[in-house]
Formats: sequence, C-alpha cells, structure tokens
Amino acid sequence: MIVPETAFLNGRFLPLAEATISIEDRGFQFGDGVYEVIRTYRGQPFKLNAHLARLDRSAQAIDLRQPFSSDQWADYVKEGLRLAAFPEAKIYVQITRGTAPRDHAYAPDLQPTVLMTIRELQPLNAGIQANGVAVITMKDIRWGRCDIKSINLLANVLARQQAKDRGVFEAILVRDGQVTEGAVSNVFIVRDRNLFTAPEGAWILSGVTREVVLDLARHEGLTVQERYCSEQELLEATEVFLTGTTVEILAVVQIDGKPIGRGQPGPVTLSLAKRFLGKTR
Ligand code: PLP
Repeated sequence: MIVPETAFLNGRFLPLAEATISIEDRGFQFGDGVYEVIRTYRGQPFKLNAHLARLDRSAQAIDLRQPFSSDQWADYVKEGLRLAAFPEAKIYVQITRGTAPRDHAYAPDLQPTVLMTIRELQPLNAGIQANGVAVITMKDIRWGRCDIKSINLLANVLARQQAKDRGVFEAILVRDGQVTEGAVSNVFIVRDRNLFTAPEGAWILSGVTREVVLDLARHEGLTVQERYCSEQELLEATEVFLTGTTVEILAVVQIDGKPIGRGQPGPVTLSLAKRFLGKTR
C-alpha cells in the first residue's frame, strides 16, 4: 500500500495526519531533542550514513539514548521512502527525550519519542539557483553548542524570519566580528582561488554538504582554509556561497544591500556547483 505524507512514530508507520504526541513531550515543552534532515537524489537518500552518524553524535551530546541503530534507521528510511513513493523526498528525523510531567531535570529511564516524516521535496526555484540570492548579516545570538543539531531553534527561527521580513533569502550570523554560518546553512567565502569556511567546533553545525563541498574544492585545486573570516572579509570577498541539504550550493550575490564581486554567481561557485551536480544527479 502506498501512503503519501507518511510519518513514522515510535516504530510504526502511519499517515502524517494521524501521528500525534503528548502535550507533555519534552520536545514540545523544552525543545529537548535532536533532529536530522536528509534529502534524496534519484530516489536515494544522499549521504545517509553521515546524517545518521551526526544524529548519533547530537543524541550523545545531550545524553539522549538513541533507540535505533544506524542500520535500523537505514531500514526505516528505506521503508518510508517506499511507502511515500515521491520522486524526490525530504526526510525529517527527530528524537526527543520523551514524555514526563514538566520538570527541567529528567529521569534517566524516559522512553524517547522518535519521529520521522517523509514529504515531497520542493526543489529551490531555478531562478534562485541561477541568479544567486541576497542575504543580511545578523548577530549570532545562539548558544555555545551549535554543533549539536538541536530542535531548539529559536535563534535560527528569529534570524530567518528577519531575513524573510527584509525580503532576502538568508541571515549570515556573525559572532564577535567573525562569520559563523547561516541560520540554515554553512557559509563559504572565496577570495580569488582561496576558499574559507568556519572551522568545525561549538560555533557551527558541521554540515554534511559542507564536507562534500570541501572535498570537491580540494579536487578543484582551490586552497582551502577552515578558519573564521571577519565580517569585513565577507563583504570584500570575490564570491560567497551557502551550502546545505536543501540549498545545495547557492551563490550569495548581495549582502546587506551591497553587491558581492560582480553581483552575480562567480566562477568558483559555478564550478563547484557543477561538480556537485555531477555527484548528485
Ligand atoms: N548550519 C545550520 C545552522 C543548519 O541548520 C544546516 C542545515 O539545516 C546547515 C548548517 C547545513 O547542514 P547540512 O549540509 O548537513 O544540511
């Protein structure tokens, strides 16, 4: 049987509209949980193992017991994709610490709430991909463990909304004068044939796409440096682009109203995007 808009809740597949949880779920009350977003190319989940490994790392980092092994997850993802039967899908996986009467501290034996939804992937508008996007910079007010893919996304939500209200695609976050990442993406800065992106650590989410792009960049013969860039370096870059599961490689052509480079996607971004296309399509 094919069930579009499929959810998977605590080990069981069911139609999305029937998947409900308790109002005392700690994810709902505290944002106490972790998540992943995975997409398919040609129906196959892209870099599934890397996403599942990051899910494990995020869960461990918040002392949350992962109820399923990566092999079990891979089977559930495969089954979900088969049931949903979309040409391309976006898979959302979330694990929260479970349901209990409200108390910040948690009991060690809570049963985690495990959720997966599978929805049809809506590709980015082709114009956006071809022409690049405008962004704003904003102060990075997030907590000190941005490497954990926590469902607690309030700072990212506010940043993204401000970007939307200002009519731009993304907010690039700046902490103490250093560029960290976007609200929903990693940021790459190009200066001629040199590529810079913030190093892994507590201030960024180490993107799966970021890793793929670093690899492509080395093959491209670029000089790659994982180091912070100042806001000044960002604004004076020859090219800037964003990476992420759903944005893929996306040129930034304007920041805070000022053009980057010639105000159109540059040769390094285009060449990496082409390599990325070769890897995924
Ligand atoms: N940084 C943040 C804050 C994100 O939310 C995301 C993705 O959602 C990324 C970076 C990119 O990560 P990935 O390439 O694994 O999708």
